[in-house]
Amino acid sequence: MDKYQKAIRENVCAICVDSTDHGACTLTNKETCAVQLYLPEIVDLVHKYDGKNLDELKILLRDKICSHCRTSGDDGDCYLREDANCSLDRYYMLIVDVIKRVDESPN
Ligand code: SF4
Ligand code: SF4
Repeated sequence: MDKYQKAIRENVCAICVDSTDHGACTLTNKETCAVQLYLPEIVDLVHKYDGKNLDELKILLRDKICSHCRTSGDDGDCYLREDANCSLDRYYMLIVDVIKRVDESPN
């Protein structure tokens, strides 16, 4: 999982609106980043999905991850998502791309 974490730090944290110019996360101890918290599950989902439809994959992620995320309400709504404040939702396409690039990398 280290190689995925490293790649996420380098490619997602680096451009995240919740990071400094140097890519350091600015979330407080009371805040949690869904990408960091659920990375193993995200990687697993991307590996298991054999289709090519990114919208379908996004729905799967919501089904599997948002469904048990503490921020999600009973109706499936999420105030962080609605405010474009969840890094997983915000950078979903980039995250999937980064995971695939790690998989294709020879190292
Ligand atoms: S919120 Fe998540 S994606 Fe953004 S900088 Fe922090 S750890 Fe990285
Ligand atoms: S969109 Fe909301 S429910 Fe889904 S992972 Fe992000 S914070 Fe959790």
